[in-house]
Amino acid sequence: MSEQSGSVEPTGFSTRAIHAGQEPDAATGAVITPIYQVSTYKQDGIGGFRGGYEYSRSANPTRTALEGCIAALEGGDRGFAFSSGLAGQDTVLRALLRPGDHVVVPSDAYGGTYRLFNTVLTSWGVEHTIAPMGDLDAVRTAVRPGRTRMLWVETPTNPLLGIADIAALAVLAHDAGALLVVDNTFASPYLQQPLSVGADIVTHSTTKYCGGHSDVVGGAVVVGRDIVVPGFEDAADRVAFHQNSMGAVAGPFDSWLVLRGLKTLALRMEKHSDNAERVVELLASHPAVSAVHYPGLETHPGHEVARRQMKRFGGMVSFQLKAGEDVAVKVCGETELFTLGESLGGVESLIEHPARMTHASVAGTELEVPGDLIRLSVGIEDADDLVADLKQALDRLG
Ligand SMILES: *Cc1c(COP(=O)(O)O)cnc(C)c1O
Repeated sequence: MSEQSGSVEPTGFSTRAIHAGQEPDAATGAVITPIYQVSTYKQDGIGGFRGGYEYSRSANPTRTALEGCIAALEGGDRGFAFSSGLAGQDTVLRALLRPGDHVVVPSDAYGGTYRLFNTVLTSWGVEHTIAPMGDLDAVRTAVRPGRTRMLWVETPTNPLLGIADIAALAVLAHDAGALLVVDNTFASPYLQQPLSVGADIVTHSTTKYCGGHSDVVGGAVVVGRDIVVPGFEDAADRVAFHQNSMGAVAGPFDSWLVLRGLKTLALRMEKHSDNAERVVELLASHPAVSAVHYPGLETHPGHEVARRQMKRFGGMVSFQLKAGEDVAVKVCGETELFTLGESLGGVESLIEHPARMTHASVAGTELEVPGDLIRLSVGIEDADDLVADLKQALDRLG
């Protein structure tokens, strides 16, 4: 059933989530892939590796299971698991880009991703231009013919839930001789499979929805089948080589936690989406709220594209307050179920103030976010309780 073995692939998403890359343990029949908490492996004579395992930076059975599973969920060729989302992204960038290359980066990129481009990559001679990825003409203008080798996309974006058209950007990228890389963290592979609509590579912070329980930091990269962009046909081999050479691999226990999280991803994403819809209903009708950002709203500028490329609209919601920044900050401290905290995608609901928390580092740049904005990661508690919690805070302070 392993994706990488090329055998018959189970078709349903949850069937893949529960079985792909995973077989009952050969030695004991344990139905769940064990945590192979080990660094090295007995060789049957020099070079006689059992199952190819030699040393756990290069490969570890728990990590192999996760890598096979995430590749199957994204419909890709090969999966790679990392110690964090940024470690995976850094590995993709340094495996595939060379000095003099140029990348188009979203104007509302995840702050840590932007920092990679803006500090780490610039010192390696890789240049970037920032563009709003929802605006195809702006992206076309940002492309430097012959030099742009990658378009980097997040959709939905953080924290304003902007939508980019993956299929259209794939055509644009490929016409320019560039790869399309999609950070699929916000949607998760359950709601959106970028490779199926033309993207070449997908990245995840598995810290978020894939892990889903706020108990692990991790990353994943999935490289698509049959990459046709000239010079990148061997992208999967290059990522594999750099994963081992740079060494930011996911450990066995972290791999196991993410693998366990993936098994319930479909159920969780349905509930996150149900609850977010209820929360959006409250926010859209509350007099204290000046704007709600959620791709499921028909008034959202990316709604039609989101409907085309997403199964549902997910658990992330942001909104702005008429009363401005100071009140927005207060509201973040007045909820009881929504816990004040960074990160997202766990079973518990979180609330935060992007301008002073997750996006404080981009203040004064093109990525600055509005001060009256609040971001919610809507969890899978009971919707009535979540709505009541937000309502009391808004009624009192908004
Ligand atoms: C959290 C996040 C990352 C970074 O992942 P880490 O696991 O924190 O390294 C990248 N992209 C998005 C969209 C994220 O939300």
